[in-house]
Amino acid sequence: MGDLDQFARQKLAALRATGLLREVWDARRSPGARVERNGRTLISLSCNDYLGLSQDPRVLEAAAAALHAYGAGSGAARLITGGHPLARAFERAIADYLGTEAALLFGSGYLSNLGVIPSLVGEGDLVVLDQRAHASLYAGARSSRAEVSTCGPGVGPIRRALERRRQFRNCLVAIEGVHSMDGDRADVSAIAEVAAAHDAWLLVDDAHALGVLEDGKGTCTSGGRRLAVPLQVGTCSKALGSYGGFLAASRVVAELLTSRARSFVYTTSLPPSVVAASLAALQILQAEPERTRVPLQKATLFCRALGRPDPQSPIVPLPFGTPERALAAQAKLQAAGFLAMAIRPPTVPEGTARLRLAFPQALEAADLERLVEVVRTMEVAWPAG
Ligand SMILES: *Cc1c(COP(=O)(O)O)cnc(C)c1O
Repeated sequence: MGDLDQFARQKLAALRATGLLREVWDARRSPGARVERNGRTLISLSCNDYLGLSQDPRVLEAAAAALHAYGAGSGAARLITGGHPLARAFERAIADYLGTEAALLFGSGYLSNLGVIPSLVGEGDLVVLDQRAHASLYAGARSSRAEVSTCGPGVGPIRRALERRRQFRNCLVAIEGVHSMDGDRADVSAIAEVAAAHDAWLLVDDAHALGVLEDGKGTCTSGGRRLAVPLQVGTCSKALGSYGGFLAASRVVAELLTSRARSFVYTTSLPPSVVAASLAALQILQAEPERTRVPLQKATLFCRALGRPDPQSPIVPLPFGTPERALAAQAKLQAAGFLAMAIRPPTVPEGTARLRLAFPQALEAADLERLVEVVRTMEVAWPAG
């Protein structure tokens, strides 16, 4: 039997040698997209709290009231001790907001994908996955035992992957509405059409679109109209500034998942205070749609100042190629007072290490200008075209 610590040491050494070691550091976040690191306050371009709702007094108040009224934890899974009415209230509110019949709340976005996919497909079925898909979509697809076919982004590759559709019983196509690392927005309308034409169910993971595109409703809405997307997964942990995940779908699908999704059935439900925070944040999105446009506006100003094409979301990647160069760029921005973490393989493909900028609503004009000046001095490996 091998020595476990010895095994771990060898693995760590290999990660360190390739610049892929990951370490957790301590940080304190505060309003204005600020984060304190090693005693220094930086402006964060790495948080997904696009609208600063994690610090909004109305959200904090709702969470505190629920905390004191109902306690710190939820006690058990919802099917065991019953769900807190706040969970049902959030489900009703998010379903109404997105224009679906129903929604089902999960512990996180990761747990949503992990539960939804294997509940709907299995052996003899096909999952078509954008090869860049988030780890949680891969986790759900792989644990389903369906055949997983990965393809390039966009409508064409998905259509080609669906040519084998007839060899399978059921088929699910899973994409990200806004790609979490590249920031490009999927043509959900066209993909929904292709999926429907092939008798495939479309799942759109809208983690990075909810709250920041289409007046907050994300990529399954276009110009105020709900697109024909039967499965929209979202997270409460990004623009909503809280924690949790959900599936917005038809009533029968939500009902089926209530019984079938293992990551719903077999895990403790979210604390009521966390759900109260999500609900309060959702009410702010609804009341202040103009606020949801600001992150993309900031990202657009940044790209235009650098002579780059307009971004499709508040996420703008700065490609550097190697992990070492991305880490050097991260250090340079940090010296200038910005936190933008290097994203390295395996989160992104080999040779595409990058800084990923997620533009927060709170970024002030002067800081945006300063950011542009620093990035101008960098050798960004911009893609051609
Ligand atoms: C962040 C993210 C998730 C996971 O959501 P959590 O609530 O953080 O677990 C899932 N899918 C995508 C595309 C994401 O970006």
